[in-house]
Order: sequence, then C-alpha cells, then structure tokens
Amino acid sequence: MQYNYTMRTKCAVCGNRGIPRKEVNLTVCQSCGYTWQTELVNIFEYDSDYITRAYSNAPVIEMSWLRLGLLIATLGKTDGTILDIGYGDGSFARAAQTSGFTVYGYDVNPTEYGISRIHSLKHAFDNKLDCVTLFDSYEHMLNIEDIFSLNTEYFVLTVPYFDRFYNDGGTIEDISNWKHYKPDEHLHYFTGRSLGILFSRHGYEHVRALPLEDAIRKDVNKPNTMTYVFKEL
Ligand SMILES: [Zn+2]
Repeated sequence: MQYNYTMRTKCAVCGNRGIPRKEVNLTVCQSCGYTWQTELVNIFEYDSDYITRAYSNAPVIEMSWLRLGLLIATLGKTDGTILDIGYGDGSFARAAQTSGFTVYGYDVNPTEYGISRIHSLKHAFDNKLDCVTLFDSYEHMLNIEDIFSLNTEYFVLTVPYFDRFYNDGGTIEDISNWKHYKPDEHLHYFTGRSLGILFSRHGYEHVRALPLEDAIRKDVNKPNTMTYVFKEL
C-alpha cells in the first residue's frame, strides 16, 4: 500500500486560497469552486473486490458504447491510439479495441483484463496520443497535474457533476448526504469553471460538456455526472 499524505490550503487550480471545512475534511476554493479533500491521502484499496463491486452495480457495457460513440464523434475517426486512465474492468477499453483503436490502460489495480498496461504516466509514449480518457477516475487521483505530462490531442473525462450539487441547493455543510461524497476515494470535486481554468493552463480548450451517461446510470431522474471534452490548442 502506498501512503502519501499532504495537506493543502492553496487551490491547485487557480492559486487562490481555499477555505477549509473541517467537519467534512474538504477545502473549498472561493474563486474557482474546485474543492479538495484537505487531508489528501491515497490509502484507498482499489483491489479486484472494488472493481467487482463498482462494475457489477453499473450498466458498464451500455456506458462503454456511449463513451466509444463520443470518442469517435470527437476524433472523427474509428481508430487511433488512446490511453484509458482508471480502466477498471476494461469494459470501455475493450469496446474501443473492437472499433479499431489501439488502447493502453493505466490503473492502480494491477489486473490487466486484456488491456496493454502502462505503469507510469511520465515518458510512457514516444508518439502523440489521440485521446486520454478518464471515466470516473480523475476525482480519485492523488495528483491532478499528473495527466498533463502526457502528450495528447484530446482529453475526455467524466466526473461527478459538482455544479449540479450546488444548483440543487446543496451546501458544503451537508455534502455528506451527496452520493458522490466519498472520503478517501473521491479526493477532488470539480466545477466546470475550475476544469476550464485547469485545462486552459495546460494548453487545452473546452470543447463540450454533456451529461452523456445519466440516462442509463442509476437515479436516472437526477443528473449526477458530467462528461467534458478538452482539445489541445
Ligand atoms: Zn481555485
């Protein structure tokens, strides 16, 4: 088990000061809305039991085809090289392979599930990637800057829809009632604005945001995730 512990009060997205909310162990940037677990720690165990639990509970096959459709629409082609970060049980990666994509995977769980696995995001590829995908994984990563060492034309990511939490009248004090509040597992909560700032700082422009998967996820009447597409400038 890797143990890495840091505590930050400065917003990693926009550099402004965050306000710590002790009762929920979160710090909120008053400027861009990015919110992070104050005591950042990666002790959560993403083992095969976790994968089984997480993936048997979701319509993963249907989600994989939707994600593939978005990928093809975004790139305008049915092949190319992609990296799927947090590939889980490999459902999406295999769907993309069947379409003609060359797929690499990165995951803290060492099981390969038939995916060509890379072990580090740094210096992993000689050639430029067409797309890096992060479906339900970015909010779990300890360091949100790590993905920007990759040379890719596009990023496609699905994260909990934090703006919607506020739009529904949610407040940080009662965030423990939100389905996406998962201490030690979800380490980051992104507003659309904060993602825009973060990716822009690394040379990517916002292309689109769409609640791609909510129609087939659980609680279909309540938008709860958002999929964002960013393209290199
Ligand atoms: Zn900020």
